[in-house]
Amino acid sequence: MIFANSHAFAEEQDAADTLASFSNEFFFPTDEKGNTLVYFCGNSLGLQPKTAGKYLQSELDDWQKWGVKGHFHGKKPWFHYHKFLTDNTAELVGALPHEVVVMNQLTVNLHLLMASFYRPDEERYKIIMEAGAFPSDMYAVQSQVEFHGFDYDDAVIELKPRDGEHTLHTEDIIAAIEEHADKLALVLLSGVQYYTGQYFNIPAITEAAHKAGVPAGFDLAHAVGNIALKLNEWNVDFAAWCSYKYLNSGPGNVSGVFINERHALNPETPRLSGWWGYREDKRFLMQRGYEPEPGAAGWQLSNAPVFGMAVHAASLDIFHRAGMHNLSEKSKKLTGYLDFILKDCRNQNPNIRFSIITPDNERGCQISLLTDENGKKLFDHLTKQGILADWREPNVIRMAPVPLYNSFTDVWKLGQALLGFKISW
Ligand SMILES: *Cc1c(COP(=O)(O)O)cnc(C)c1O
Repeated sequence: MIFANSHAFAEEQDAADTLASFSNEFFFPTDEKGNTLVYFCGNSLGLQPKTAGKYLQSELDDWQKWGVKGHFHGKKPWFHYHKFLTDNTAELVGALPHEVVVMNQLTVNLHLLMASFYRPDEERYKIIMEAGAFPSDMYAVQSQVEFHGFDYDDAVIELKPRDGEHTLHTEDIIAAIEEHADKLALVLLSGVQYYTGQYFNIPAITEAAHKAGVPAGFDLAHAVGNIALKLNEWNVDFAAWCSYKYLNSGPGNVSGVFINERHALNPETPRLSGWWGYREDKRFLMQRGYEPEPGAAGWQLSNAPVFGMAVHAASLDIFHRAGMHNLSEKSKKLTGYLDFILKDCRNQNPNIRFSIITPDNERGCQISLLTDENGKKLFDHLTKQGILADWREPNVIRMAPVPLYNSFTDVWKLGQALLGFKISW
């Protein structure tokens, strides 16, 4: 595709974009003067769907009207509230409905999934993960290996980029899995790396893990709602994600979980249990002896946090209407345009110095810029110009034009702001 750094070109693209009207379904933040900001932080906290309040109010109304009877009599009975989110969730991540459930929050779910899938013994106890993983994942993995009596430095193999590089090669990930196969217990990577924006080759990594005889799990916090995932087809063992980044469900909201049916339908798969994962038809008999609900639902611990899940349902309904495949097609063009604008403005304005660390053939919508000593100034300049991106110490600017609500004109506006950047001495 041939791009142009012009307002007319951006407007043309927006006019031809069949998903453009979805931006009207979200609230955009404004500056003090009431001007709408260009929002490139959907990778960090997605925007609020205008329908969120309605979905939430409906549950408040049912609570008001029914009290405890809302568990069975509300418009969406709370007794099996998670089911109202299942089909859209399964569609979003390419799973069968019984392979997914929405519950808890992300880090909690990573622990629950490691309880099931990190089953070390003296021979095989190592975990492969990426160096520089999201801190919560690092801490979760560290506590898991230590909980089982192992040492972090011995038990955790951190994959580092080659010298002078910022991202990993798939062949190096696979080579590491092969090299450590004898001692390995688990491969746990992100789907899209939060810092570099690299989209890992999930099927190839999963296949390599299986050849080594271990499960492959993925933290999809930055992949879900960003990439068209096919977790079942890719034969992934398990995955978890949060709902507040690309899924626009509000700060700290619930997490989703995928457990491949070969594990999820097996009642012998070990797990940490609670009453809400118990067989639904017998849950309220409150008997001794655990019988899980078949499928990922059998990993639930607590009754559903309905208010948060109502907001999440509002957002999932939008994804269902837009279609993840369509979003992904738009995303490739939109992020391609961002890539073009960034480079074009760098050519035109010598004050701008950065390199792009996100691989252009392995990415979702996010692009990460490695800046120089003026990076923070550049970032502050963009903020002043009404462009909301994301600064990561020591010198990375992340930008994510999300296909649901960002436009080609947004990207063009970023370019205009970049062209106006001066270094003041
Ligand atoms: C955002 C994110 C988290 C956050 O975890 P919470 O439990 O939702 O606070 C964890 N891991 C990754 C990779 C993330 O991107």
